[in-house]
Amino acid sequence: MTHPKKHKATALVTGGNRGIGFEICRQLSAAGYHVILTGRDQYRGEAAAKILTEQGLDVRFIQLNVADPDSVKQAAQVLTEELLSLDILINNAGVALDKFVPALEVDFATLKQTIETNVYGVFLVTQAFIPLMQKNAKGGSIVMLSSMLGSLQNMGKSTLAYRLSKTAVNSMTKVFAAELAEDNIVVNSVCPGWVRTELGGSDAPVSPEEGARCVVELALQREHTGTFHREGEIFPW
Ligand code: NAP
Repeated sequence: MTHPKKHKATALVTGGNRGIGFEICRQLSAAGYHVILTGRDQYRGEAAAKILTEQGLDVRFIQLNVADPDSVKQAAQVLTEELLSLDILINNAGVALDKFVPALEVDFATLKQTIETNVYGVFLVTQAFIPLMQKNAKGGSIVMLSSMLGSLQNMGKSTLAYRLSKTAVNSMTKVFAAELAEDNIVVNSVCPGWVRTELGGSDAPVSPEEGARCVVELALQREHTGTFHREGEIFPW
């Protein structure tokens, strides 16, 4: 069955089934967007989308494992058939597997899994969905969930795999921003602060709602491109 092409402004969020990603989905749909909540697990993703649709929000789930090139390709194919264009892409999915582990002790499997998800994942998703965004006459907005731990200016001990992945994400932000400027597509990185999620832990001072708010604000405003933000300010690379 072919679906009618969607005209409503549309946003896609990776890792939308929990944490900051889930809140980003809630806030973007509350702001009037048709939100594609994506996640690697069908059951968890559908359950998350159901919570939002039961609140009257325009959200649907599509399976997308950012670390699996076939999964990314399949999701992009499905959405390219169904949507006229894409307005917002939030590269939110991420893992932090070596928090506080000294660089001398981090094992290669951890480094590899971190890079596959946080770097290759962002690359695959961004490259796969840019053509759909380029169909939008008004351009678009891409936000990369980064971290101050990836800032070279703030580099310190431990957490090497995660830090490295976010430094690489910041590089992608600059390169994609430069290449997409003529398509009126802005690309920015943001650190949401230290947020109370499974990744951030229960001691984190920032709620998922607040963490998501700065991401959504950055996605909606189109004043900057190729920049890194934290707490509403430009942050050093
Ligand atoms: P979280 O609660 O652990 O959620 C991570 C999300 O990413 C989950 O939905 C998870 O899905 C998804 N994910 C992981 N691997 C995936 C894959 N291969 N394909 C698709 N989805 C995948 O983390 P969070 O705190 O919300 O973090 C969201 C983003 O913010 C991350 O990029 C993180 O680095 C960044 N960030 C967080 C903090 C913080 O303090 N929390 C600070 C700075 C930056 P599953 O449920 O399937 O695992």
